[in-house]
Amino acid sequence: MYTGTLFIVSAPSGAGKSSLINAYLNQQNQLSASVSISHTTRTPRPGENHGEHYYFVDHNQFETLISQDAFVEYAKVFDNYYGTSKAAIEQNLQQGINVFLDIDWQGAQQVRQKVPTAKSIFILPPSLDELEKRLIKREQDSAEVIAKRMLKAKSEMSHYNEYDYLIINDDFSTSLDHLTAIIKSESLHTQKQYILHQALINQLID
Ligand code: 5GP
Repeated sequence: MYTGTLFIVSAPSGAGKSSLINAYLNQQNQLSASVSISHTTRTPRPGENHGEHYYFVDHNQFETLISQDAFVEYAKVFDNYYGTSKAAIEQNLQQGINVFLDIDWQGAQQVRQKVPTAKSIFILPPSLDELEKRLIKREQDSAEVIAKRMLKAKSEMSHYNEYDYLIINDDFSTSLDHLTAIIKSESLHTQKQYILHQALINQLID
């Protein structure tokens, strides 16, 4: 068992998933948590960099990685492949660093099967209107793409009850408190505490 925990975080686009994860990381010691960088075949948006937001690869490269069994999970989302490489998570978990996977419900199902100790968190928006407003405010997508994301949001959200934890992201700072509480409680799990404090525990009960 690793001392780091794998946290799967899913939400429809615009629910505030990336902002919450980034705010959590900014308030933490850099060495305690990280976000896995996925591979994708979609084209970079303005401001996105290879190796920082995603590893941007073409279809052939992605399929080669699939054939090499390089992914813990992968899925087609919005007509593009997205996947989490094993390399992106294993080393950090071994070193006791928590790893966030910002992935969709299809990937979450695969990770739960392969890594039963992973904990999953679903983030819902406070309303459909607010979700649409946030997508428009991001100024990242055309009206057509936003309409597509709104349609996709309902099917993504219908999987909320497959997750261990649910956050309704209405007030951002309350949601950040909730995310922090989930992660803190997981770090106090008896099995993890035993790995960290083995010598003390053995002394105490010897
Ligand atoms: P975007 O294109 O907006 O960055 O991401 C679209 C969707 O793909 C989001 O729901 C995001 O969580 C999901 N996604 C990003 N990376 C991965 C991944 O590695 N695997 C899976 N299954 N989904 C991913």
